[in-house]
Amino acid sequence: MAKINTHATGHGSKREVYAGGMAIEYNVFPNTSATDKERLAKITGAYNIINRLDKKIDLRDPCNKYFKTLPKGKSFRRFWRDDTIFIGLSPSLANGFYGATHSNDKDVCVSAWCIDNTNHWMIAATIVHEFAHIAGAHGGASHAAEKAADMCGFKPQYDPTILGSIKQLGEYLETIA
Ligand SMILES: [Zn+2]
Repeated sequence: MAKINTHATGHGSKREVYAGGMAIEYNVFPNTSATDKERLAKITGAYNIINRLDKKIDLRDPCNKYFKTLPKGKSFRRFWRDDTIFIGLSPSLANGFYGATHSNDKDVCVSAWCIDNTNHWMIAATIVHEFAHIAGAHGGASHAAEKAADMCGFKPQYDPTILGSIKQLGEYLETIA
């Protein structure tokens, strides 16, 4: 299973500099301050949602099938159950920056802003979005990664103007995941 990047994993922090000089960090989740503990609790909540989803759905469902249409041609399950993939923390508090995927296709991050300002459903949707990049979905103007969140049942999370439906969708996902 993919793992949350905690100290216990021994994976360590990564950093990557992108075009234009922007650096993104894929850090170990610290576990010292009250804020650290809250963030760990929320990322764990999101992680558990995806675990339940993975257990519930089969390989022919839209989520796994959609991932197979992405460039690497492999199911969502193939990536989710890969224990060499880590979900780390970007300390960025930039409004609207949710997460990113390292070019090594082994590290994704969810931003501190996303964790602090959205609920665990949105965080789960962000993780699925980043896993679509690992599966080969292109970034930038491509909607391939967002479509993955849609096919895995998270689409309304991607429109922050539809906040009202998040709870409703959460209840729906609770029934299937
Ligand atoms: Zn993306």
